[in-house]
Amino acid sequence: MAGVVVFAEVKDGRLKKASREALSIGRKLAQTAGGDLVAFGVDRAAAEEAGRYGAKRLYVAPLTAYTTGPFTTALKQLVDQVKPSIVLLAGTSNGRDLAPRLAARLNVGVASDVDRLEWTGGKLRARRPVYSGKAFATVEVSSTPAMATTRPNAFTAEEAGGETAEVVQIAGPASDDKVKLIETKTAEAEELTIAEADIIVSGGRGLKEATNFSLIRDLAHAIGGAVGASRATVDAGWIDHQHQVGQTGRVVSPNLYIAAGVSGAIQHLAGMSSSKHIVAINKDPEAPIFRVADLGVVGDLFQIIPALTEAVKKAKAH
Ligand SMILES: Cc1cc2nc3c(=O)[nH]c(=O)nc-3n(C[C@H](O)[C@H](O)[C@H](O)COP(=O)(O)OP(=O)(O)OC[C@H]3O[C@@H](n4cnc5c(N)ncnc54)[C@H](O)[C@@H]3O)c2cc1C
Repeated sequence: MAGVVVFAEVKDGRLKKASREALSIGRKLAQTAGGDLVAFGVDRAAAEEAGRYGAKRLYVAPLTAYTTGPFTTALKQLVDQVKPSIVLLAGTSNGRDLAPRLAARLNVGVASDVDRLEWTGGKLRARRPVYSGKAFATVEVSSTPAMATTRPNAFTAEEAGGETAEVVQIAGPASDDKVKLIETKTAEAEELTIAEADIIVSGGRGLKEATNFSLIRDLAHAIGGAVGASRATVDAGWIDHQHQVGQTGRVVSPNLYIAAGVSGAIQHLAGMSSSKHIVAINKDPEAPIFRVADLGVVGDLFQIIPALTEAVKKAKAH
């Protein structure tokens, strides 16, 4: 019997961190809701890792690159077949795309972008940040199954020491000709996406001009993080919108958020104030970003960022 189904996404041969987090909370929920934790995916090579995170079975659909229609149909077929109490998807681009479509097809409720989950009284209770992170709403999803998308980095990915998940091949959906994937282009090769990154280094208008984003990129690469940006820099055309953090960009919760030359406008804070550790570098001691920072450096980013990058490189070399 399946208690919890988790959409398990794979990148570069590994389960995405956000999917490992979803599996980890899924395993805890299965302990109270009853039934097994199982995963749904398209890559049977993920069975060993899915098992380590507690999945008993990995249902593999004969699909390749993500497109909404076929993935919705395949996951719905699986849900109809195994009748879980809960369906979880990590809040990645694909998870956020798939969840509402699946919920509509199943005619069930979905709590999106949650940072806490528990199974209580036969219902899924979820906490969601609302009003740009200023408040939390606790919601209960009473449908069967109950669905949720998990905010990346809000849950801890914990191995359960389980055996390799049993791979169960499931039938694919009938061909869906409405949308055809023609080509996948990666905007900036090797760059991490901010939504799932553990570390983000963000640049603001204090960078003065587009080319100076190279300072942010150098530090991000040295420290193993993703490049974030304020809206002012995106609007100025210095960097692509996919990097924008904030109310009209992405909401992120990395372990470490470094903001350089970012004033900390309320709309920016809405996207990053739930980060675990915040470091702000700004030459204005009154900049609002310092109000949310755990560590504030008052100074010129053009001196501090290169020095920090060098220090990180040196530390890593030892
Ligand atoms: C509806 C709406 C939605 C919005 N959504 C977003 C959003 O999603 N994300 C977002 O970011 N903004 C958003 N904004 C815009 C937001 O209000 C701010 O305008 C924007 O965040 C400012 O960007 P910034 O901090 O880069 O620039 P500024 O506010 O101009 O700040 C630049 C900072 O750099 C510092 N600085 C300058 N030179 C140096 C130096 N050499 N060394 C160190 N520090 C230096 C300055 O002291 C200053 O604090 C939104 C606005 C609206 C109205």
